[in-house]
Amino acid sequence: MPHDVAAAYATVAARVGPLLDAIAHERLALPAPARDAVLLFARRVGSLGDESEIATLFELDTLADIADEEDPRAFDLAAPASPDTRSGVRARQSHFSASALNAYAECARKWFYRYVCSAVEDAGSSASTYGTAFHAALEDFHAEFPQPDPTHETQMRTRLSGYVNWSFERFRADFGTAVELELQKRRAQRTAVRYIDWLLAEARRAPFTVIGREIAADLDLDGFAFIGYIDRLDRDDRTGAVSIYDYKTGSIATSAAEYRDKVREFRDFQLPFYYWARTALGDRVTRLALIPLKDALLDVQPVSLEVVPVAAPERLRGEPTTGTIAVADLERARARMIEICRDLTSGALQQFPATSDPSACTYCAYANACIDRPHDDRERFGR
Ligand code: SF4
Repeated sequence: MPHDVAAAYATVAARVGPLLDAIAHERLALPAPARDAVLLFARRVGSLGDESEIATLFELDTLADIADEEDPRAFDLAAPASPDTRSGVRARQSHFSASALNAYAECARKWFYRYVCSAVEDAGSSASTYGTAFHAALEDFHAEFPQPDPTHETQMRTRLSGYVNWSFERFRADFGTAVELELQKRRAQRTAVRYIDWLLAEARRAPFTVIGREIAADLDLDGFAFIGYIDRLDRDDRTGAVSIYDYKTGSIATSAAEYRDKVREFRDFQLPFYYWARTALGDRVTRLALIPLKDALLDVQPVSLEVVPVAAPERLRGEPTTGTIAVADLERARARMIEICRDLTSGALQQFPATSDPSACTYCAYANACIDRPHDDRERFGR
């Protein structure tokens, strides 16, 4: 075994107990042939009687020679190296993103794995490819239909169906199997029908123009550069007010109040970041909304927050997917983003605690390697 590898094992053994025990009980992983060789070696050494037998085994005349500094065959064991001085971790990225801060807010350990170690490459899944393909289809669709018009309903439905087909074909290779591709495409087609239903209802209520698709959002927050992409940006044709939309193909808050709480509790920075990025460019942003595109069986009904000077109390009746958020809440979110960036770049962070919320681990790419992940009761028969 190479010297440095053996030294690494010896170092780890200082934490896990006797090295050979750890190898024998598979607490320390070793390739099978190396493991068998190590254990055989240990057994043979253990079975030797006295020093002379060991000396014979290692072709040394006597062990006494080893200790004799005058003897040219003698060698000294190296003194153990002193450990490096512990120092903190510093974020290395030149740009921050709202999703990186969301990851940090969700689980500091996950942020460390993903943004500091780049520990594993997330291979993605058919669910994430579904999201990518659907985003691309809607981007193409709104390039052709920036002003949804109810008199063009048939044409809009036909064209979106075509864009979905084309987009899912483009990403064909990223779906595991042809069956998976077909299932996800059908799911997207059903959801697209509901998307058009909602789009037409919106256009009838208040005509609007899609002024941005996958549009870059740059923002400098107190010297920290942020970058992101806004899925869709609309301008109300009558008032000029701007709405920011984020397509969501995964699980999201089910009510406006729930989403507003996430912003207030600094668990979600995405829409606040977009708000400040567009406000800095002079837009009058009055609405922030998440568009759910996950469930083909449900109507598309965005979780929408109107930006107001003072937020209304939570609604007890009426439509739970619409609500308000105060500018002060968005200002606090912005201040917290700056604070987190300062922490991450200070070099003072030495600990990245694992989350206490098991649901954060469900799709975490590091779950298999994360020894501190919280126990999930739903897995009690699965681990
Ligand atoms: S498995 Fe859970 S605790 Fe571990 S890094 Fe991922 S989210 Fe955090």
